[in-house]
Amino acid sequence: MYQMKCKSEAIERSCRRLSCVHPEVCENLNADHGPLLDLMSRVRREPGVKKVFLASGVRYDLAEKSPAFIEALARHHTGGQLSVAPEHSKKEVLDKMKKPGIESYERFARQFSCASEEAGKNQYLVPYFISGHPGSTLEDMVDLALWLKKSDMRPRQVQEFIPTPMSMAACMYYTGVDPLTRQPVQTVKDPADKRLQKALLFYWDPAHHDEVREALVKAGRRDLIGSGPRCLVPPASGKGSLPIHMRRMAGAPVPKRPGPARSGPPKGARRPS
Ligand code: SF4
Repeated sequence: MYQMKCKSEAIERSCRRLSCVHPEVCENLNADHGPLLDLMSRVRREPGVKKVFLASGVRYDLAEKSPAFIEALARHHTGGQLSVAPEHSKKEVLDKMKKPGIESYERFARQFSCASEEAGKNQYLVPYFISGHPGSTLEDMVDLALWLKKSDMRPRQVQEFIPTPMSMAACMYYTGVDPLTRQPVQTVKDPADKRLQKALLFYWDPAHHDEVREALVKAGRRDLIGSGPRCLVPPASGKGSLPIHMRRMAGAPVPKRPGPARSGPPKGARRPS
């Protein structure tokens, strides 16, 4: 957002909006990426500077409005991967975070991928997601897991919500109320519920399948347990379940098989003489 500001000081003085970029980018915001592109270009020409990489911090709702910025970012300033934080897929949860809708991330991801291809570079985005944020229900996390599956994403970097002092999210977490709307906000405080929310982000990992099944049953989504293309996890046993060696490889608990019925005396027992 380098040098981006309101088009008019008079408008800015009378403005009562909390954010220039939420719920959508304000039409009065000068989102010109020109100054940032100039800066990036100057840095590249600086004697002694070989490379300058942006590893994170890109606001994709603004970046997607500037193909020239995405082109420069992909061609000159990405060192293999770029971390971005779509955080969630549900609009209601993203609104609580004051973040743009997931469609904005999808558009940016497509543009970045095309720009990287054109630059002849094999690089990718590392998207971060969060579980347990105020306003995020178990059902919302199921929706997020379905979105991840649809997008063929298997996140490894996930964050469980931790309230940070002086933040709006912490206020919602402790009071259960959105301070801006005064509306109640659902919060997750029970460690077991937090664990289930987080497990859904690992729907693809057999080590978490038992927890994901538990979460789906609790969310009333047994229909997502099975071997069909829409399902998130296979059943625990029977048709469509994972072979035991795959569960072992993933470090998942393996159900014990009942041993053969014994007819003789217990092992180690002595015959009466
Ligand atoms: S929200 Fe819009 S009108 Fe208000 S300060 Fe930001 S850019 Fe200006």
